[in-house]
Order: sequence, then C-alpha cells, then structure tokens
Amino acid sequence: CSIFLDENYRSFTKALNQVNSTTDKNINEIYDRVLVISDENVYKTQLHKFIDSLNAKFVSEYIVPAGEESKCIDTFQKVLEHALKAGLTRKSLIIAVGGGVVGDLSGYVAASYMRGIDFVQVPTTLLAQVDSSIGGKTGINLGTYKNVVGAFYQPKFTFINVSALRTLPDSEFRNGMSEVVKYGFIYDYEFIDYLLENSDDILDKRDSALRYIVKKCAEIKAHVVEVDEKEGGLRKILNFGHTFGHGVEKLCHIAHGEAVSIGMNMAFKLSLKRNLINEEYYNKFLQVCEKFNLPTEFEGPEEHEVLSIMKTDKKNSFSKVNMMLPVEHGKVDLFNDVDDETILEIIKECKYA
Ligand code: NAD
Ligand code: ZN
Repeated sequence: CSIFLDENYRSFTKALNQVNSTTDKNINEIYDRVLVISDENVYKTQLHKFIDSLNAKFVSEYIVPAGEESKCIDTFQKVLEHALKAGLTRKSLIIAVGGGVVGDLSGYVAASYMRGIDFVQVPTTLLAQVDSSIGGKTGINLGTYKNVVGAFYQPKFTFINVSALRTLPDSEFRNGMSEVVKYGFIYDYEFIDYLLENSDDILDKRDSALRYIVKKCAEIKAHVVEVDEKEGGLRKILNFGHTFGHGVEKLCHIAHGEAVSIGMNMAFKLSLKRNLINEEYYNKFLQVCEKFNLPTEFEGPEEHEVLSIMKTDKKNSFSKVNMMLPVEHGKVDLFNDVDDETILEIIKECKYA
C-alpha cells in the first residue's frame, strides 16, 4: 500500500487521485459516498481541518467514543448500521481519521461491509502513523481478549499528516516514541543516533524532525510487512520488547508504550547476560529511554506472574517463550531456548528496588 506524508491535509485529494490514476478529480467524482470515521478527541482537534480539505458534498461522519472500548462488536455493528443508512455502496469509501483504535475498527468495518469496500487510513497518533496504519491488520476485541476478531485488509493508501501530532497529549506521544525507538534497535542503528542528537526538536514537535522520524519508521514497517505479509518470518522482529512487555502491560495496567520500553530493557539485559551485546550498546538504549522519558523498570507483580502472562502471548508457539533479543547494532534475533529461571531473574532485575 502507498504511504503519503505531509505537514497538513491539503494534499489528500492529490494522493487520492494519484492512487486512482486520475487527475484533479473531486472525491465525489471517484466515490459515490464517503464515510469518515473518527473519535471524540480527534473530532475536536483535527477532524474539521481534514473535512475542510476534502471539499466534498457527500460525506457522512461517524464519531465513536475515544478509547479502546470502541474496538468492540457493539460499536462495529453501530458503524455498519450507519453505513447502510447513509447509503454506502460497493463504490463508496471509508476513511479512518484517528489513532489505532479508529484505524483497526474502521478497517474491519471496510473489510466486512458488502464483503469489502475501499478504505483509507489517516492516522493521527504517533503510534498509528508509525505502526498500526501500516500492514493491513484490522480488527476488534472480544471483551478483554484483544484483537481476536479481524482480517488482513489493506487500505488503498495511508495519508500521514505529521502536524496532527501537535494536538496529541504528551502521554500518547511518548507511547508512540517507544515504538519509534524499537525500530532503531531492530532495523537501523544509525537512527538511534539521530534520535539522541535531535531529541529537543522531536520533543518540541518540529515539523522537520517529526517528518524524519515518522517517514523512517513508516518505511521500515512497510518494508518488513511487505517482505512477510502473514507473519512467517521477518515480521516477528516487530515483536521486540513486546513479549516481555505483554506481562507487565496486563498486570501493571500501564500504557502499551511503557510496557514496550520495559520489555526492551528486559531483552537487553538478557542479551547482555548472554554476551550477545556489550555494555556500551546497552547504555545507548538506556540513554535514549531517558531522553524520551520511557520507563525501563516496573513496580508491583511477582516475577512468576509476569512469566505466566508472557507464556499466554499468542505469538508463542508450543508454549515456549519466543524471545526477540538484540544481537548487534540495529539487529535482533529469535531465541526459544531461554529457560524459565533466567527469565525470572531478568524480570526481577527490572523491578524497582
Ligand atoms: P487511540 O486510537 O486510542 O488514540 C489515543 C488517544 O489519542 C485517544 O484518546 C484519541 O482520541 C487521541 N487522539 C488521537 N489523535 C489525536 C490527535 N491528533 N490530537 C489529540 N488527540 C488525539 O490509541 P493508539 O495508541 O493510536 O492505538 C492503539 C490501538 O492500536 C490498540 O487498539 C492496538 O491494538 C492497535 N494497534 C494496531 C496495530 C495494527 O497493526 N493494526 C498495531 C499496533 C497497535
Ligand atoms: Zn506495540
């Protein structure tokens, strides 16, 4: 899928034309109906700017409550009913303007409505811009079971406006920064130096810095999923920090990004123990976490509780814990021979003293 990146929404229609091999057509000349799905916060901060730039006649909006709870069967059904009432046909378009919640939900609606209609992602959180809007995974939760219902469904394109990140709360920005850091350690070590050298510009949300980091990460994600569309091999590197993180995320009720940086710390410590990396490399990781205020330690649950949650991660095969560990500059590798005792030791080391 193509990715377009800009500092405003104005070039959206141009991107739409490019993808459809048309020139200067209005969106209503390409699609009979357009449904824009968003959430309450994005409605307040971004949606009017996006809708204004669309300059369209037949656009209906559906605004879901903000938060993970909207990724549910009930909201899924309501959006489908709205689509039907609004007269969407097989020739209509759904646009998701929002974070990963809106993107995952809308993508699944688009995949299901009349067996699949066109869909475009306009991600507005850092996490959605560098991760969830790319790769074609869509879906919803079943109660507390996350992402268990869904489909692989590619958007026609992803349109990223990096300046949308300026209205994003700092906590949500940090959440995405954890994934940004992850990309450096799994794929492009020089990128880590960029992050360290340009941390002020990134934290001040300067356009050029945002552009650079989002472009870099979106390209890495797009490349990784293109090579491995259905999670056979390479895509697994994206799980770096997530297996360890999964345990603390569930038990400590912390944000996903925080769990990922703690999870990466556990993986780094394990690598250090196995002499796969040196202290200097590990210190670079700690340095970048400090710059972006990403936690590396957790408080609360017992080690064995964390381990047992890790073992329930659906990404493990045959109950062995698959560990993605840093091995050298900008690379990780899969290990499934780590014994429980070692994992427990590492978890303990990452608990606040
Ligand atoms: P989110 O969609 O809940 O957005 C976070 C918060 O930011 C929300 O309150 C939202 O209203 C607000 N917001 C969004 N954009 C804003 C803006 N520009 N200004 C002000 N507020 C804004 O959360 P998220 O972190 O973007 O996404 C998390 C979801 O993504 C989870 O459900 C997760 O499962 C999913 N995900 C999917 C994939 C995938 O490949 N499909 C990958 C990773 C995560
Ligand atoms: Zn993640």
